[in-house]
Amino acid sequence: MPIYEYVCVECKHTMEAIQKMSDDPLTDCPECGKVALKKKISAAGFRLKGSGWYETDFKNGQKKADSKDSGD
Ligand SMILES: [Zn+2]
Repeated sequence: MPIYEYVCVECKHTMEAIQKMSDDPLTDCPECGKVALKKKISAAGFRLKGSGWYETDFKNGQKKADSKDSGD
């Protein structure tokens, strides 16, 4: 199951929640109790994108992936 990261726009509280794709996004902040949670882009999504990108470079025989990574 994907992990979603939420941030409260009222009190800046951040939290992670494990949810199904079909679950409704959370809206209630556990810190201040307001309906102010916003979903951030999940870290898991970033990781998947990153590895795919790296693999493409590797297959092309380019060894510049490391320098590209650090420059990002
Ligand atoms: Zn809050």
